[in-house]
Amino acid sequence: MGELLNRYEQVKLRINATAEQVGNGLQPGLLAVSKKHSVDKIRILAAAGQKGFGESYVQEGVAKISLLSELSLDWHFIGPIQSNKAKLIAANFNWVHSVDRLKILKLLNQSRLERQSPLNVLLQIKIGDELSKSGASYHEILSLAEAAQKYEQVTFRGLMCIPPPNDDFKIQCSFFQQAKVVFDQLAAQYADVDTLSMGMSNDLEAAIQTGSTMVRIGTDIFGQRPSQ
Ligand SMILES: *Cc1c(COP(=O)(O)O)cnc(C)c1O
Repeated sequence: MGELLNRYEQVKLRINATAEQVGNGLQPGLLAVSKKHSVDKIRILAAAGQKGFGESYVQEGVAKISLLSELSLDWHFIGPIQSNKAKLIAANFNWVHSVDRLKILKLLNQSRLERQSPLNVLLQIKIGDELSKSGASYHEILSLAEAAQKYEQVTFRGLMCIPPPNDDFKIQCSFFQQAKVVFDQLAAQYADVDTLSMGMSNDLEAAIQTGSTMVRIGTDIFGQRPSQ
């Protein structure tokens, strides 16, 4: 428990130090990526003040949400979305980061319950690697963003990206910069766009330097994930 809280504090220090270097007064949000980790660990972080948790697998995430419902946490779905899971995602999560096609956007909108507030949606933009499976191209992002405007049960909040892994700070920044340019364009066009989800354990500094508003940290908070 002490170790988990230590790592959590270290990550917050890294975020704050980098935000201070940027010096624009903005504080990037921290999403704790709890996939493959226990509800006990989530409880410990929640008690320390962490609100947002990210999950990549639908069944696992939904089970945790139900076990921890009394804590009123914010749950973010960040994994690949199969269409037969869209309904469960829409009914249980507060945010979805990984929308990259119209069919999924439509299904999320249809499945979001009327009594719930609209589902917060980020579009996943493909960066730096034409071979990667997930993520929409620039032109697809523009048309998805426009389509989202007519769906009442979803609110289009911005972009998410997962660039190819690279240990070079400058290369990391150049990937994130590609998302930042598109984000700025969308933020100028749509009033609800305020979230740029980028940066993981290995590249959070580069992401924040480049304008991330939300980093998604798993390993550096929880330690290595149990092997799959
Ligand atoms: C697992 C995952 C993370 C966290 O990655 P770490 O390297 O463990 O910090 C962030 N974003 C997405 C989309 C993930 O699947």
